[in-house]
Amino acid sequence: MRIGWFNDNRLGLVKDEKVYDVSAVLARIPTPKYPFPELGDPLIARIDELRSEIERAAAGAASIPVTEARFRSPVSNPTKIIGTPTNYRDHQAEMQADRSIPKLGTSGKSIEEQGLFLKANSCLVGPTEGVTLRFRDQRNDHEMELGVIIGRKASAIPVEKAMDVVAGYAIALDMVVRGSQDRSFRKSIDTYGVLGPWLVTADEVGDPMNLDFSLAVNGEMRQKSNTNLMVMNIAKQISWASEYYTLYPGDIVMTGTCKGVSKVSPGDVMQCEIQTIGSMDVRVS
Ligand code: MN
Repeated sequence: MRIGWFNDNRLGLVKDEKVYDVSAVLARIPTPKYPFPELGDPLIARIDELRSEIERAAAGAASIPVTEARFRSPVSNPTKIIGTPTNYRDHQAEMQADRSIPKLGTSGKSIEEQGLFLKANSCLVGPTEGVTLRFRDQRNDHEMELGVIIGRKASAIPVEKAMDVVAGYAIALDMVVRGSQDRSFRKSIDTYGVLGPWLVTADEVGDPMNLDFSLAVNGEMRQKSNTNLMVMNIAKQISWASEYYTLYPGDIVMTGTCKGVSKVSPGDVMQCEIQTIGSMDVRVS
C-alpha cells in the first residue's frame, strides 16, 4: 500500500498513477485528550489496523492523477528524525578529499565511533513545500537517502527483529549547510528534511537493502547508487538507535547518502528517485 498526505491535508491512497482521497478513514483515529497518552504519529501507528478500511474507502473515493497532487510529508508527527552519517564508503571518501568542506572531529572515523545524529522534527517538509535555503554564502548540499519509517514502539530491539518494526519507506533528503558545527545544528534548518512523495509499506518494497536510487539537479545526474552499498545495514541502524532511545510510530531513519553530494542554489529542482518507491521533484528557493 502507498499512502500519503496531499493538497489540503487530505489522506491519499496511491494506486495506478492516481491518488484516491481516503480522508474519511481519519475519523477512526481517536481524538487525543491532554496529557496525550501516546507518543508518535497516530496514523502510522494504525496503518496495519486501518489498511483494509483504507482500501475499501478508495473504491468509492474521488481521485486525481498523481502528477496533479501536491504531496506533503507522509509522516506528520515523528518524535524524532535519526540520521546515519557516512554510510556509503564513496561518500566518506569524497568528504575527506573535499578541501572546501570543514572537517569534523569525527572525520574518517567509523559510524560506531561517530554515533547516529538527530535532526529537529521542525525541519520536516514534503516535496510540495520544497527547500528554502538559509546561509546562502555557505555551501548547501543535497544528500539523497532511503527513508525508513518506524511503525511500532520499540526499545533495545535485537538486529534479527529490527525489520519487524518498520512500517514502510519513502524518499528522504538530508539537506545540510556545510560547516564545522555539530550536525544536529546544520541539518535541522527549517525545510532541510524532506520526505516523500508517499509511504510505501514494507511488504511492497521487498528487500530494502537492494534498491537503486538517484538524484539529479536540473536534469544533471549527481548521485546514483544502490542501498546494497550501505556500510551499516538498516536492521543494525534501527537496533542500535533503539538501544539509546525508544522508537515510536512515525520516527524516521535517514539511512545515509552516497557520493555526489553537491551545492544547490535557489531555482534548482532536485529530481529524486528510488526503485519501487517512486520519484519526486523538490524545488529549491
Ligand atoms: Mn545524510
